[in-house]
Amino acid sequence: MSAPIYFDYAATTPVDRRVLDAMMPYFSASFGNPSSVHRYGQQADAALESARETVASVLHCQSGEIVFTSCGSESDNLALRGAALAMREKTGANWILVSKAEHHAVSKTAEQLEKYYGFQVKWLDVDEHGMVMPDVVEKAICDKTALVSVMYANNEIGTINPIHEIAEVCHRHGVLFHTDAVQAATYLPVDVSALGVDLMSLGGHKFYGPKGVGALYIRKGTPLIPSQTGGGQENSLRAGTQNVPYIVGFAEALRLANEEREQRTAHVKPLRDRIIGGVLETISDSKLTGHLESRLPNHASFVFKDVDGNLLLQMLDAAGFACSSGSACKTGNPEPSEVITSLGFSRDWALGSLRVTLGKDSTPEDVDSFLTALPSLVEKARKLATDKRG
Ligand SMILES: *Cc1c(COP(=O)(O)O)cnc(C)c1O
Repeated sequence: MSAPIYFDYAATTPVDRRVLDAMMPYFSASFGNPSSVHRYGQQADAALESARETVASVLHCQSGEIVFTSCGSESDNLALRGAALAMREKTGANWILVSKAEHHAVSKTAEQLEKYYGFQVKWLDVDEHGMVMPDVVEKAICDKTALVSVMYANNEIGTINPIHEIAEVCHRHGVLFHTDAVQAATYLPVDVSALGVDLMSLGGHKFYGPKGVGALYIRKGTPLIPSQTGGGQENSLRAGTQNVPYIVGFAEALRLANEEREQRTAHVKPLRDRIIGGVLETISDSKLTGHLESRLPNHASFVFKDVDGNLLLQMLDAAGFACSSGSACKTGNPEPSEVITSLGFSRDWALGSLRVTLGKDSTPEDVDSFLTALPSLVEKARKLATDKRG
């Protein structure tokens, strides 16, 4: 049997060959600790700082505003916890505003800040397309608000939020604004000066870089208390000897994503549109989740009424297609995803979610065979669910 067709690029991507080549020397030949004084250290430090400059040039910021972390989740944690604690110390503000459609790396951190650190969390409603409207943010801000966090693009439903407008609202009220751009960075510009954000999270493995490396943009002057204490690495904001090969890979992957953004978008977008059109046309009781226009160009996501989404994924896998029901972390969890629920879908719809995300290696033939296979699988899954209920 041939390898299954990979339609789960929002969960992770393979490392680009060019990225891997850039990383290789830093595992062995240039293995130094960037904090060491000698030439081995200097060589590693030069690679580290060159990677930082590459990232800064893509983000249109200064290299001193980039902190490397171990993943996108860590960047979200550092941003939320660090800014919330620092703002409370500085101004006494203890409210955090977070959208209801955030990745768990943000929402669980906010919950922890409420449960153990004495903050108050206000959950921002999203509209039926999963979008956070700037006026919803504006109405929720009060004089005790420390920080607002709204993701740039949603991993489960692909919706792109009006980040620039939300940032403007926050700054009008003197509130810090963080965006989780982990999913967005693959296809959308991440120019922090155009976006106007104070803090922005990135993760390497969503844009053909390695897993286990991320970055946080911290606008100069933004107060932040480190989560991980120790040595003075990363401007004393994130202790620990830097993972030089992974950071080099992260920077190269981001550089390529930025350089090839238009080509990559032009490749995936028509395939995505064929999937959306084909699914809605051939499958009864199916709906698109997320926004039709303001959505990631590689992202198609649906709900099917009276279908067990996990069962459908297993059937798709057996048929040779690797898809997802939303967040990759939801495996084995029989509850509908909070993101899908936040769109207003009832349980009989929300449990039947499917996410199909495309990438560099996706082909029209892949899409055709998927569209041929899916209708009968949905029908079978639906029949099983209905029979079970009796
Ligand atoms: C993948 C993802 C994360 C987590 O990134 P990791 O590098 O896997 O920790 C956070 N937010 C969003 C939107 C993501 O898609």
